[in-house]
Amino acid sequence: MMDLELKDKVVVITGASTGIGLGVSRAFARQGAHVVMAARNEARVKEEAARLTDEFSVRCIGVSCDVATPEGTDRLIGSTRDAFGGTDILINNAGTGSNEKIADAPDEKWNAYWELHVMAAVRLARGFIPMMKERGGGVILHNASVCAAQPLGFEPIYNVTKSALQMFSRCLAEEVIGDNIRVNCINPGLVMTPDWAKTAKLHAGEKWEDYLRNVAKELAPINRFATVDELADAFLFLCSPRSSFWVGGAYFVDGGQKRTV
Ligand code: NDP
Repeated sequence: MMDLELKDKVVVITGASTGIGLGVSRAFARQGAHVVMAARNEARVKEEAARLTDEFSVRCIGVSCDVATPEGTDRLIGSTRDAFGGTDILINNAGTGSNEKIADAPDEKWNAYWELHVMAAVRLARGFIPMMKERGGGVILHNASVCAAQPLGFEPIYNVTKSALQMFSRCLAEEVIGDNIRVNCINPGLVMTPDWAKTAKLHAGEKWEDYLRNVAKELAPINRFATVDELADAFLFLCSPRSSFWVGGAYFVDGGQKRTV
């Protein structure tokens, strides 16, 4: 059996109160890691952190912060330092889809997505890298999207900012690998989260499951969504010492959705 060597590591995960971030937090807690879980809604993130602490006998804390602001990233950095003295792993996961036409989307919308998808990662890198250096190294993983390489037509702002996040990941990887900090990017395809169910219900009402089946049929050769657990395994591996030679890459976990080689 492969030991992922994640026991007693400290992991910071943004966007950790639901969906992929919560599933990844749970997977790390199951491995015996301690998790700093960040999201804006304080009650929900603290409740989920308490649940994981109870279930896996590890120390999970919920930090309420908006990572799209300097105040929010400072808060996350400070809370992590206070609770654990630093972190071994940082996962930039917080993000959300968009829906617009380039012709009429205002500057404010572009700026908001830039702050959430790119500047959050920049500011958290600046805050956490010195702490990782003190520990002798670390891992940073960016959750972009298959859309970083293959755009979906209805969400140009999402596509552009996720593509920028992937390039940021590559640039950071080269800057810090000499300090024994490995940086990578993961690009998921369709992953079933509560947010997808909500979107499908908005579009198709009671027939929401048919709607999702059609989305999968249209976009993914595998003809289905991934579960959060399937995706979480890839996060664990990319953050584990077992992936020690994986540096500066962008790894697609997408059921064949990206149609280029
Ligand atoms: P969800 O919408 O289900 O969850 C988003 C999480 O991020 C919530 O915990 C939310 O909590 C938190 N969050 C959102 N904005 C902020 C913010 N400004 N500051 C702090 N926390 C925030 O998203 P998914 O799980 O579906 O997606 C997670 C990531 O994966 C995103 O970056 C997304 O782009 C990417 N992705 C998702 C795919 C999918 O099919 N689901 C496919 C490819 C990529 P709160 O609202 O309380 O802040």
